Amino acid sequence: MEFTERALILKVGRFREIDIWVRLATPSRGVFTAFAFGGSKSRRRFLGCLDPLNHVLFHFKKSPRGEYLYLMEGSLILSHPHLRTDQRMLGRAANCLKFYESVYEGPGGSREGFELVSAALSVLDTEADSSPMFPVLFRAKVAFVQGYGPALSTCPRCGKDLRNAAAPVFLVEQGQVACAEHVQGPGRRIPLGREALDILRAVKAGLPEDWYALVPSPVARRQLYDVVDGMVRYHLGLAWEDGRFQRI
Ligand SMILES: [Zn+2]
Repeated sequence: MEFTERALILKVGRFREIDIWVRLATPSRGVFTAFAFGGSKSRRRFLGCLDPLNHVLFHFKKSPRGEYLYLMEGSLILSHPHLRTDQRMLGRAANCLKFYESVYEGPGGSREGFELVSAALSVLDTEADSSPMFPVLFRAKVAFVQGYGPALSTCPRCGKDLRNAAAPVFLVEQGQVACAEHVQGPGRRIPLGREALDILRAVKAGLPEDWYALVPSPVARRQLYDVVDGMVRYHLGLAWEDGRFQRI
């Protein structure tokens, strides 16, 4: 069986003499590893393709018993040249990709997730003034795309507009933001001021190009870190440990 699909290259490694393994993110098959036999020699089949951060159109072939996917040839769509030469942007991109890999590992793909991570890399490649919070906001957006994350407009108990409510609180385990009068039940509670709330709303509603440059005040930054950590831990089951996101 053969097919053609777009992919983002997350990692590349060599095995044996001239063969290459490639860790890929794809829109319909999730994150997986494929093999390019003779990849380090075959310039014609993979011209400029086999590097991390490349967006490539690959032709794949399944091994006879269906255990492996081989890369037959590729054509480069985007290489993100500016991103590669800027250590700060590269760090932000690497953080986003590690998170993406943890969430989308395995056979189920997500076209929306793939378009999101592609858009994130494009923004980091083209906009020199992205926010240091970009990876945190990206994690929030992935959670929203996955269907997690609280409603951000009204208190679920009284319907009050949260932007006008005094001291709303994110109830982590309940996955809700309630007004101060309706903070009930057990579990972790994180205050969510108006600035942090507005930023979350912008992230939920928009694409990376709409929120990449948002730089919160120190108080809002702290709240956003805690809220996103709560969403990612409790609803996606991931935590940052030993330099990567791990299942908890
Ligand atoms: Zn309320």
